[in-house]
Amino acid sequence: TQQFVWPLAQFGQIINMYQRAHASSERIFGLMDEPARLAEKEDAPDLTVTDGRVEYDDVSFGYDDGETIVEDISFEVGGGETLALVGPTGAGKSTILKLLMRMYDTDEGTVSIDGQDVRDVTLSSLRQRIAYVSQETFLFYGTVRENIAYGTFDADEEDIVAAAKAAEAHEFISNLPDGYDTKVGERGVKLSGGQRQRVSIARAILKDPDILVLDEATSDVDTETEMLIQRSLDTLTEDRTTFSIAHRLSTIKDADTIVVLEDGRIVERGTHDDLLADDGLYAHLWGVQAGEIDQLPDEFVERAAR
Ligand code: ADP
Repeated sequence: TQQFVWPLAQFGQIINMYQRAHASSERIFGLMDEPARLAEKEDAPDLTVTDGRVEYDDVSFGYDDGETIVEDISFEVGGGETLALVGPTGAGKSTILKLLMRMYDTDEGTVSIDGQDVRDVTLSSLRQRIAYVSQETFLFYGTVRENIAYGTFDADEEDIVAAAKAAEAHEFISNLPDGYDTKVGERGVKLSGGQRQRVSIARAILKDPDILVLDEATSDVDTETEMLIQRSLDTLTEDRTTFSIAHRLSTIKDADTIVVLEDGRIVERGTHDDLLADDGLYAHLWGVQAGEIDQLPDEFVERAAR
């Protein structure tokens, strides 16, 4: 068993590294529901999404303290495609997505959706077209129904239940003390991570966004729940432009493009097969997670720990 335990321990280390990344994105995306703090241009038009094509063009950004956090980021995601961001904690994955949702403005370069600079459109239209899904999605103190309908103004009961069913959430909601009327969030019934994630998927399904941001940690769910979540995510991401922050590489291996970040820079990009052939950081992370190699070679561990 020794031989078996060792790679798993290594795997745990990597998972932990990704979970810390996840914890920081929780704080970050909690902000999404706050009122806009950035200025809109006078008479800014609403965002018009045609294909859902997203382009980052030479983007650099640092927070207030002046340190550059992401640098020279350029990539394009075609409408309906999936782009996965991979890399150690602190590499800048969440930061890159905050710029898409315009929680911050770039210092250099532009982020655009179907040719419209995100700084040129109204914030409300931008955030209406993007949905964020994770276990850490903000649930406010209110009923499950209200939490699913949050962000969608004209949802009726039928839509809400259909969304919950598509999110594989209907069954557990029906088993709550007051079903859809059960109060959750602070002071309410405590939902598990997997349940919160499914409420957040239901919310996103109802919102019907053009662009999805997924933070797909599945740390505390059993295998069956994980399969349910994966199935509902597959439905949700179909035909929508999707950004995925990957914690377990198996969930993103089919992404159209995988971007590997280290220290705020793109170090590798391509499909899963391209990146395996490159034999770099991604290939080694994959090897560890797949149990093919025992541990991440020292050069990568040291780089990740920086
Ligand atoms: P990742 O998602 O890859 O873990 P982040 O984008 O969360 O990386 O973080 C990149 C870097 O930016 C880290 O060094 C982090 O400490 C820093 N950072 C993140 N959010 C803020 C913030 N609000 N203010 C200052 N620094 C931040």
